[in-house]
Amino acid sequence: MTAAQTVRKVGVTGYPLSHTISPAFQQPAFDHYGISASYRPYPVTADELPELIAKLRKPEWLGLNVTIPHKEAVISLVDRCTPTAETIGAVNTLFKEGGDLVGDNTDAHGFLTALRTDGTTDPAGKRVLVLGAGGAGRAVLVALAHAGASHITLANRHRERAENLLDSLKAALHAQETAVAGWQSADVCAAATAADIIVNSTAVGMAKGPAPDESPLPPHVFRRDQTVFDLVYTPSRTRLLRFAQAGAARTLDGLPMLVYQGAAAFERWTGKPAPLKLMKAKAQAALGT
Ligand code: NAP
Repeated sequence: MTAAQTVRKVGVTGYPLSHTISPAFQQPAFDHYGISASYRPYPVTADELPELIAKLRKPEWLGLNVTIPHKEAVISLVDRCTPTAETIGAVNTLFKEGGDLVGDNTDAHGFLTALRTDGTTDPAGKRVLVLGAGGAGRAVLVALAHAGASHITLANRHRERAENLLDSLKAALHAQETAVAGWQSADVCAAATAADIIVNSTAVGMAKGPAPDESPLPPHVFRRDQTVFDLVYTPSRTRLLRFAQAGAARTLDGLPMLVYQGAAAFERWTGKPAPLKLMKAKAQAALGT
């Protein structure tokens, strides 16, 4: 096979990977530019991850998306991380630069782009309630700090995790007033009503997740002039978003963020502007929305 015929490798790793829709919107982006590349899922366990990452150093590989549960473990396997990935403490994209294998995190960019573009809301100077102190919550907090939110309240089912997260991000959150609220407490309801922006970065509401039919907040806390952003993308109308809509709040589901974080990865791998409209349409088709 000549160099011109070589099909470059790229894809997503995680475990398990049965529900990933990344191939459905990444492959058409490569095809759009006529780039000879095959974007595939690479489901590997934690034990198998180092072997996969070692293969990535071969010239036929363009890079990789990384998802649960490898976003943190992969850090020790790369040559360096971008400042964003370092601050977040998790990597969701691997790309090559100057002979180095670099770990980046495009979730914060995806979150902010979706909030600003699709949610028509700029968090600068805003009061925000964030639900969830997992990996996605970390990226959301870093993005909000970067974008200049004024107040951030964090609530998580296991309160200690929220406290530890705010503590570990103290440097990044130096300009914000921060607080922890109890999960499903009077405090969190008060913080929700006072918030300009509410973000759900828990798995609550996710189809096939731990609590698919639940909402992390009750229906009475929402009001007009609020933006409620649920990072969950299956289903597109979670119970939380239905409550928020009934309260006349502006709502945003997780699909645009998913596409923007993937689009940023595509740009790292190819140096070309991501065909966003195409990627969004393919992601929507894959989810049947
Ligand atoms: P993670 O690191 O595993 O964190 C899971 C979070 O959900 C934790 O805050 C956890 O709370 C909470 N949680 C799980 N089950 C719960 C329950 N029954 N009741 C209350 N809280 C519960 O996962 P992640 O990566 O942060 O992802 C979280 C969500 O964001 C997922 O739905 C994922 O699909 C979505 N996400 C979307 C995008 C996008 O591009 N749209 C990107 C990343 C993630 P505890 O700490 O108390 O366990």
